[in-house]
Amino acid sequence: MLRVDELFEPQELRHCIRDLVALSTLPAIWKDYNSRQIADSLAAALISMLNADVIYVSAPGLRDEAAVEVLRTSRALSALSSGPVERILRGAWLRSREQTFAIENPLGEGELQVAAVPMGFGGDAGIVAASLNPEFPSETHRLLLGIAASHATLAIQRWHAEAQQRRMASLVERSSEFVGVARLDGSVQYLNKAGCDLLGLSGIEEAQRLAIFDFIAPDQRARAHRELVPLVMETGRWLGELNFRHFRTGEDIPFLVEWFRIDDFRTGRPMNVATVSRDLRGQRELEENLRNLNESLEQRVSKRTSELADALEKLTLEANERERSDVRAQELQLELLHASRLSAAGQMAGALAHELNQPLTAFTNSVNAGRRMIANGTHRVEKVREVLDEASDQALRAGEIIRRLREFVTRGETEMRIEKLPDLIREASEFASAGTVAHGVRVRLSFDPRAEAVLGDRIQLQQVMLNLIRNAHEALAESERRELDVATSRLDDESIEIAVADLGSGLPDDILEHLFEPFHTTKSNGMGLGLSICRTIVEAHGGKLRYQPNRGGGSIFRVTLPVPLER
Ligand code: ADP
Repeated sequence: MLRVDELFEPQELRHCIRDLVALSTLPAIWKDYNSRQIADSLAAALISMLNADVIYVSAPGLRDEAAVEVLRTSRALSALSSGPVERILRGAWLRSREQTFAIENPLGEGELQVAAVPMGFGGDAGIVAASLNPEFPSETHRLLLGIAASHATLAIQRWHAEAQQRRMASLVERSSEFVGVARLDGSVQYLNKAGCDLLGLSGIEEAQRLAIFDFIAPDQRARAHRELVPLVMETGRWLGELNFRHFRTGEDIPFLVEWFRIDDFRTGRPMNVATVSRDLRGQRELEENLRNLNESLEQRVSKRTSELADALEKLTLEANERERSDVRAQELQLELLHASRLSAAGQMAGALAHELNQPLTAFTNSVNAGRRMIANGTHRVEKVREVLDEASDQALRAGEIIRRLREFVTRGETEMRIEKLPDLIREASEFASAGTVAHGVRVRLSFDPRAEAVLGDRIQLQQVMLNLIRNAHEALAESERRELDVATSRLDDESIEIAVADLGSGLPDDILEHLFEPFHTTKSNGMGLGLSICRTIVEAHGGKLRYQPNRGGGSIFRVTLPVPLER
C-alpha cells in the first residue's frame, strides 16, 4: 500500500492529490455514458495523468452488449499504426498476468515499461498502461491505475444494470396487460399505462394514492383480503379470476389475475406484491359470440333438417301418387289397346279369311294334285309324298296364321326377336312367287349389309312382305316389263327401309286417298285388307308404311323400321 510519507516531493504530492480529485469526478461525468464512452474517457484521463505512452482499456461485453477495446497513444507514438501495439500489449498482458513488466519496444529502441490492472469482471478485462520512461510505473502511477480501474468497473456495471432496467421498464410500461407493484402494506407503488387506462385512472400519481383492495370489485374484496393476499405472501403466487372495478363508471371488469411476491434477493425477505393481469372482456365476448353462433347454427341446422324431412315426406307422397297414376295410366293404356284390338277384330275376321285364302288354296291344289297322281297310278310314291308334304306345309302355315291372329286379338304380346331381314324377305318372296298369276317376273333382291337386323315378330313381318310382293306380282300381270325390285337400306342411325318397287300398273289417283283403309280394292277377287293389315303391323313395330309412284311407271311401297338397339 502506498504511504503518503513515501511521497517526498511536495510537488509530487500535489500532483497526486490533483489526479485523485480528477479521478473522483469521473463517475459523475460517466453517469449517462455507455461502456465505450467510459473506456474512452478513462483512457484519455489516464494518458495525461500517468504521462504514459500507451493506454489500453479492455471492457467486457455484458449480456447482449459487445466487448469494448480502446487504445490511446502519446503524441510520440501516435504517428505509428496502433494495431500492432494493441496486439502486443494485450498479448503480453494476457500471457504474463503480471502487474508490472517490461517488453521490447515494438516501435523502436529500448523497452516499454508496462503496468496492468485487471477490472472486476474477470477474464481479460483490464487497463494496461505503458511508457518508454524506465521509471514507469511509480507507486503513484499504480495507485491511480487501481482507483481508475475500480471506478470504471463500477461505472460500466451500473451502466449495464441501468440499460437492462430501462429495457424492462419500457417492456412493462408498453405491455397491454395490467402490470402493478404494491408495497407490503398494500399501497400502490407502480401501475403501468395499460393498468391506468383499463380502470379509468388518470396516471401513476392517482394510482399511487390507492391500495390493492381499492382495485377489486366490492363483493370480492373480503375474499382477496382474507384469503388471496395471505396465500400470495405464504406461497409466493396466486392465479385466478377476479373482477376489478372501473374507477369512473363503477363497472365490474373480469380479469385473469396473477399475483406474486417479490423477495429481496440478498435477504430473502418479501419486498413487494406484484401483478400481471389480463382483461378478459374480449375473450368473454368472443366466447359469447361463439356460443351464440353455435346456438344459431344448431337452430338453423335443426330447422333445415325438419324442412328437409318435410320435403322428403312430400316427395315420397308425390312419388307414391305418381306411381299410382302411372299404374292407372298403364291399365288404361292396356284397356285402350285391347279395345282397339277388339274393334280391329272385325277387320281381323276378314283379314283372317284373306290370309288363309292363299295357304288354303295352295293346300287344296296340292291335295288335288296328290289325288290325281294316286288315281293315275303312274307316279312314284316319293313324288306323291312330296306333293302331300307341300299340302301339309300349307296347312301348318294356315294354322300358324290363325294362332298369331288369335294372339294379336287377345292381349298376348307379339314375339319380338332380332331377325335377319334378308332371310325374312327371301322366304316371303319365295312364298309370293309360288302360285302367282304373273309369270316370268324378274325379281331382284338387294340387301344393304348395314340393314341386316330387325327387331320384330317374324310371322307378322313376313306377312307384310308377302302382301307387298304379291300385290306387286299381281300388278305386273298385265305389264310388259315384269320387273320387281326389293331392296333394303340403312336410312340413318335410327332407321332402315325396305322398298318394294314394281314397274306394274301403278295406282290411279282416286284410290290413293283410301289406299290403306280396309275393303278398298280394285280386284274382282280382292278384299282390300292387305295394305291396311300391313300398315297396322308396321306401326305396331314402331315403323311406317307409305306409297310412292315409281318414276318409270308402277309403284313403290316403302317400309321403314327402327334399327334395333345394340343390347
Ligand atoms: P287387295 O289386294 O285384296 O285388293 P290390298 O289392300 O292389298 O287389297 O290392296 C288394295 C288395292 O291397292 C289393290 O286392290 C290394288 O288396286 C292396289 N294395289 C296394291 N298394291 C299395288 C301395286 N303394287 N300396284 C298397283 N296397285 C296396287
